[in-house]
Amino acid sequence: GRALPTPDETRFFTISNQKGGVGKTTTTVNVAAALAQAGLNVLVVDIDPQGNASTALGIEHHAEVESIYDVLINDVPLEDVIAPCPDFDTLCVAPATIHLAGAEIELVSLVAREQRLRRALDEYAKYREKHGMPRLDYVFVDCPPSLGLLTVNAFVAAREVLIPIQCEYYALEGLSQLLKNIEMIQKHLNSELVVSTILLTMYDGRTNLAAQVAQEVREHFPNEVLEAVIPRSVRISEAPSYQQTVITYDKSSTGALSYMEAAAEIADRGVSS
Ligand code: ADP
Ligand code: MG
Repeated sequence: GRALPTPDETRFFTISNQKGGVGKTTTTVNVAAALAQAGLNVLVVDIDPQGNASTALGIEHHAEVESIYDVLINDVPLEDVIAPCPDFDTLCVAPATIHLAGAEIELVSLVAREQRLRRALDEYAKYREKHGMPRLDYVFVDCPPSLGLLTVNAFVAAREVLIPIQCEYYALEGLSQLLKNIEMIQKHLNSELVVSTILLTMYDGRTNLAAQVAQEVREHFPNEVLEAVIPRSVRISEAPSYQQTVITYDKSSTGALSYMEAAAEIADRGVSS
């Protein structure tokens, strides 16, 4: 892949969609990998109790591993739980464990319950600076498919929302609810949050429906939708079972190339001209 520009400051993304199975995790890990492959410093924060992003990036996340749960609930510093991704020098991961499933309830009674991830990320940026480590270029938070306190923490920690949309009949219906929730967050908790990026995923070029939905989404969000479209691809869905992203699993596949294109567009958009 070509060299990608370094952003002027760390870009914080949350990958959100209240629907499950739309490609949130797949998009998180593959965009992160494509940026890291270009030499950019990337952190993936997994806050889905399923831990699928941790798995795909080859990071241990069994119940005994110190994880983002300990960061959010027990004030453990991020640097204590972050692990390097074996396939990319500049990619690291804060893994999720099954303990996170209880965190929604435990967070309720904690001080600054909506701000805990943001604070941990602020502290971690200071830690990197203090230890002469390069500034992070990108942080991606992979969310569970619900609007609980975990997702709220991601919305408060992020500046940008990346919404993966599956090109199917109900795509836009779910989207309006998501946008309402984001407006609520903007109003009460994080006025800087913007939906900067929409990515069409699992695109099946053989169906008229996919083309129609894609066109409709582009009409509604002309500035947000990336030109790159992620095709439905067996290689993309196989990669996680080898604890890999498609970027290393099959780097010349259409799936890998489309995620590299998407990452390049994201990187180009983040640079002030
Ligand atoms: P979410 O995180 O939104 O629940 P995932 O990223 O886990 O969604 O994707 C759901 C399922 O679809 C997974 O099994 C994943 O491997 C598969 N998948 C995701 N993107 C693609 C794609 N472009 N082509 C084929 N399968 C895909
Ligand atoms: Mg997921």
